[in-house]
Amino acid sequence: MSNRPYNDLKSYLYKTFGKRVYKLTIDAGLTCPNRVRGSGCIYCNERGSGTGLWAQGVDIKTQVALGMEGLRRKYKKVDGFIAYFQSYTNTFASLKTLKTNWNIIKDFPEIVGLSIGTRPDCIDHERLELLSEYSSDYKVFLELGLQSINEENLRWINRGHSVEDFKKAVEMASKYPFDIVAHIIFGFPKQDIDEIIETAYFLSALKVQGVKIHLLYVAKGSLLHQLYDRGNFMPIEKDTYIEMVTTFLEHLAPEIVIHRLTGDAHRGELIAPTWSVDKTKIINEIEKRLKDRSSFQGKLHKL
Ligand code: SF4
Repeated sequence: MSNRPYNDLKSYLYKTFGKRVYKLTIDAGLTCPNRVRGSGCIYCNERGSGTGLWAQGVDIKTQVALGMEGLRRKYKKVDGFIAYFQSYTNTFASLKTLKTNWNIIKDFPEIVGLSIGTRPDCIDHERLELLSEYSSDYKVFLELGLQSINEENLRWINRGHSVEDFKKAVEMASKYPFDIVAHIIFGFPKQDIDEIIETAYFLSALKVQGVKIHLLYVAKGSLLHQLYDRGNFMPIEKDTYIEMVTTFLEHLAPEIVIHRLTGDAHRGELIAPTWSVDKTKIINEIEKRLKDRSSFQGKLHKL
């Protein structure tokens, strides 16, 4: 179905479900321990990477219905949905609240998957057990933010957890039938290509099932925005980003599914770099670079 030089999500979902399935994003109105105990990650603004719909008074059920409507308008053929609890930290609530939130998907027979975005220091045995109750009827994805394998970068973005926390979380969650999807960021000030290669090997060795690559962009209202305005942060150049993603893919295990190749800010929130707006162009350039090198995901992978 796909002739992309990497293991793309669209093909993986089609292979998994045998039909066209799309993700609908949900804001469950939770918060995040990193914001509760401090100012949060420096790139995060008050919407916590989400739609902000909860704060506008839109409940989860309505969000699901609206999301389905929007996806059906956008794509010609939509056969099913994955409910993606995206905003903030979606295991940071009581078990009762989580169960109430997640049970809403049972009202929608078109939903075939459940995806939970969270932090590695915010999962435990009880939460994973609860999530596993859904895995007999739904494909379950657990999205864990690592962001960087470099502790210095984690401190700089005020991430509030360590690389070791991420490793432990993956080890704990690997006992369950989930697809574990690691979130990583490219574009840190001192990040070089060796660190990118090391990141590919690190995630391959942990045997995560998926990776989401984000670009460190400046969102309106974030602490990074203040640094940028004072001239203390320079966003990555487009060509460097493309080279980093290409190199990362070449060194990553071929079976890992690529959920995302670049990040995007919400409408009206992007301050810099402005080149990141055109996601299709970036993806095309990454694919072109791989093809120009006669390369593909995993070509240089050695473990
Ligand atoms: S963990 Fe997520 S929601 Fe929390 S501060 Fe960081 S980016 Fe924002």
